[in-house]
Amino acid sequence: MAEKIVRNTEKKAAEPAKKAAEPAKKPAAARKPQTVITPNKPTGGSTVGLRIGAVLLWIVAIVCEVFAIMAITKNFVIRFTHNGDTNMWIAFIGFVVLDMAACITAAQLWKKANHIKPMSEKRGKFLFYLWNELGVIMACICFIPLIVLLLKSDKLDKKTKTIAAIIAAVALLITGAASADYHPISAEQKDEAESQINGDVYWTQFGHKYHLKYNGDPDAEQVAVDCPYIRESSSVYKGSVTEAIESGRTAICSYCAAHAADWGINLNLAELNVEGGTASENKDQVPVVNTTAAPTVTGGN
Ligand SMILES: [Zn+2]
Repeated sequence: MAEKIVRNTEKKAAEPAKKAAEPAKKPAAARKPQTVITPNKPTGGSTVGLRIGAVLLWIVAIVCEVFAIMAITKNFVIRFTHNGDTNMWIAFIGFVVLDMAACITAAQLWKKANHIKPMSEKRGKFLFYLWNELGVIMACICFIPLIVLLLKSDKLDKKTKTIAAIIAAVALLITGAASADYHPISAEQKDEAESQINGDVYWTQFGHKYHLKYNGDPDAEQVAVDCPYIRESSSVYKGSVTEAIESGRTAICSYCAAHAADWGINLNLAELNVEGGTASENKDQVPVVNTTAAPTVTGGN
């Protein structure tokens, strides 16, 4: 269940006189309507189900990989067809697509589990990377043996080999790209965000960061009440920082981080995940964003 609040745009249209009388607020009145969505999902909890689901789907993907090899070498497809080549290709492509679907779905479950229960940074960078990018590693396992076997096969003619290997390579690239976690978070960073940020945070459908400041009032002086990076979005999601992280928004927006103090929110940025990476790596960048974007900020709250 999700609560949706749609801004009343008719109200704005009914007050043209007010707008004309207040030219200073014209940009605010011209603002696009935004929908505020409050996801009502339980957060935290066990990640065992997600991880078991991911592993099972990776096994399904490997089975599909084996079937794809059997299809292209006509190991079994030939037995139920009188049109071998056409059905060979249908079966091969079908199993490659199933392989992709299982692999990509598994990686999404795995990433979700990692955002709910992230790994500690203390286990070392290499293990942290392996754990978070297991989706990419599994994508390689689910496609590279297929590609190697295709290229090495002496049963297949050159044309069949080449076409099948290209199909498998494209599938590998798509699966790898969809399986990578581009914004991983560590247990320490999640704990810090949860302990430092108590109120609601906001995020957009396609953004990967969460924001601190959103009022959404079309008649208000925008810069004082909203982070500019969510002002143009048609939908704004609202929830706790835990919900934001579990939805994949693992880093705080650098603009919001730089302006938190102006908004009366005290943050220890050195400990927070600002724009991906560790906050300590990024903290020097924050004042840069501040100086370029700050002139429009007049404070607030
Ligand atoms: Zn922001």
